[in-house]
Amino acid sequence: MNVQCNGGGVGVTERIPCKTEGCSATILPTTAAKTGGTCMPCHQEQERQKRQAYIEQHRRTVNLYEGLTDPVDILKVMHAPRKYDPLIQYVPYPLSREQVYVSLTAEEAGRMLKYALELLARAMRAKPTISYCR
Ligand SMILES: [Zn+2]
Repeated sequence: MNVQCNGGGVGVTERIPCKTEGCSATILPTTAAKTGGTCMPCHQEQERQKRQAYIEQHRRTVNLYEGLTDPVDILKVMHAPRKYDPLIQYVPYPLSREQVYVSLTAEEAGRMLKYALELLARAMRAKPTISYCR
């Protein structure tokens, strides 16, 4: 490949200071056009803060454990896959999984085991295509 000198065009482009107060970065005019005059890190920080403010304004709190008293039901909720949504804040259960597990009675532990086996069986059925792969 033949690389030609472009006459020093690169490097001559004048850099302009970032608009953010206290930021000493300089940026290319093309960057300034994209960000509105701030350097990329400042721009990203602004965007992050905007998103964060939006999330805080619109976030709702969901308590999946409300009304649950059966530790097996509580564990089922703990294990259930949860769709990640930044606008939903899930209230954590006051006890950890481990703490709930060790507090199970023998009868409850048996029900939990049965539930876990059902989940495993369902997971096996859910991916039958794998056996056809070469
Ligand atoms: Zn900056």
